[in-house]
Amino acid sequence: MRATQYYAPTLRQAPAEAEIPSHKLLVRGGFIRPLTSGVFTYLPLGLRVLRRVEQVVREEMNRAGAIEVSMPVLQPQELWERTGRWDTFLPQPLRSEDRTGRWFCLGPTHEEVITDLVAGEVTSHKQLPLNLYQIQTKFRDEMRPRGGLMRAKEFTMKDAYSFDADWEGLDRSYQAMCEAYLRIFERLELEVLIVEAEAGSMGGRDTREFMCLNENGEDTVLMCDSCDYAANAECATSRVCEPEALEGPGGVYERIDTPGATTIQAISEMLDMPAQKMLKTLLYQADERFVAALVRGDRDLNETKLQRATSAEQLRMATAAEIEELTGGPVGFSGPVGLPDEVEIVADDEIKLLRNAVVGANEADAHLVGVSVGRDFEVGRYADLRQGAAGDLCPQCEDGKLQAQRAIEMAHIFKLDTRYSEELGALYTSEEGERKPMVMGCYGMGVSRAMAAIVEEHHDDSGIIWPQEVAPFDIVILLLDPDKTELAEIAENLTVQLEETGYEVMLDDRDERPGVKFNDADLIGYPISVIVGRRTEESGEVEVRRRDGEEQVVAVSEALSAVQKLAAQA
Ligand SMILES: [Zn+2]
Repeated sequence: MRATQYYAPTLRQAPAEAEIPSHKLLVRGGFIRPLTSGVFTYLPLGLRVLRRVEQVVREEMNRAGAIEVSMPVLQPQELWERTGRWDTFLPQPLRSEDRTGRWFCLGPTHEEVITDLVAGEVTSHKQLPLNLYQIQTKFRDEMRPRGGLMRAKEFTMKDAYSFDADWEGLDRSYQAMCEAYLRIFERLELEVLIVEAEAGSMGGRDTREFMCLNENGEDTVLMCDSCDYAANAECATSRVCEPEALEGPGGVYERIDTPGATTIQAISEMLDMPAQKMLKTLLYQADERFVAALVRGDRDLNETKLQRATSAEQLRMATAAEIEELTGGPVGFSGPVGLPDEVEIVADDEIKLLRNAVVGANEADAHLVGVSVGRDFEVGRYADLRQGAAGDLCPQCEDGKLQAQRAIEMAHIFKLDTRYSEELGALYTSEEGERKPMVMGCYGMGVSRAMAAIVEEHHDDSGIIWPQEVAPFDIVILLLDPDKTELAEIAENLTVQLEETGYEVMLDDRDERPGVKFNDADLIGYPISVIVGRRTEESGEVEVRRRDGEEQVVAVSEALSAVQKLAAQA
């Protein structure tokens, strides 16, 4: 390919809204252009990278026995109503109405479509197991898309769905996908960690995420410093801390004036007492009833855990008016002592140990001190309600502590059970002649996000350093003085020779200063550059340079073998 006949517009400046390296470099390097917030066009170089990432994914999926299909983006409302997800899927899918008033969503995921397909076609145990996948455009109605391809409204995903006769079969399919994913990330040169994860709107169990630890990731992983426990902070658990951590300073049970202290921080400063000796009381409406959720003062409540603990379908914080009516006091002064009986108290496991704590008095500008659980109030139920945080005790080993690290979620896999196959009638006839629901798994992987993650992991101040497997071109030949016929001829011949060997080659024959060509080559991130310039003219030599630093000067006739050697070392 000749740069003069190509379309690869690089920019000197990153767009103002770009905050992270992958967003900046992919726009500057001429890989993507925004159409509007969270929606991008792939320019020729970007499309090449995307296709190569897809190819790695496709090869490994095929190798694992999955079979490629392509399902529609438009999915009818009726189908989603059969699984009950039309109104409950979060975040709510983008929706669209056709001219006859029928509603569709732009698929954020394809459990309904694939299960409906298989339900109509697969009927016997002899047709199982089956694993179907696609590489498709997906939509997500992001409130705040950011980070370029990292979190977009429209993006490319690979999603696979396995159908098995029983749980043992699902375990095998799941394991095969895990292994395929590890091979994919190895080829993409992304180091990943498999962590425990939250299933969310997908449902199912044994949910795992593949995380790439990176400071620009949007997730937080909590990992043990002495064993292999690792979980998304959304669902991480911990061992309950030592009792003394919750022991208040003693003293008698009494009501004290705390004017204006509506937050834990304010009361903590007023009484000069650490927040962990206090109790946070949060009122929620869980379906038709109210619950008071208790966590240690320095903790955040994890609403997903509360929802699970209360088995509520709908959970929301109580309004100021509801709090006033239920507790008799204003927002900021709620406490567990003297709540009406219809408000169930659900407490985090750590609260079992609470002695002599400070709690809201359920009246304005007042708190109670010296409060102990079991003596001054009763808890209806204990559960893990706390948001995991760095420093928590590892739930899996004796003396480990959890560390927090930012991470990019690369993939998410679920054992779905028979929920979708039962709801959509994906049944098969077993060897014994019984009709049984198929046991399903689903396996998602962000393909365009992988492209962003590769840039986050492989770049320097000058630009991107693409791994060879996904680089838009393998080699760039920098023809520094295209007006000199003799040099142009050498560059041409080298291009042909390298292309015939199987490399994808970009010949930079533009009429630009050498500095511009070097900068663009570094910015775009070609793994190998071959420089045809003054040295070639003077001594018949070219420089062969790897993007990550290594460099050789060789005779033109040895350029091919030098390229092969450097490529093999990468
Ligand atoms: Zn541990």
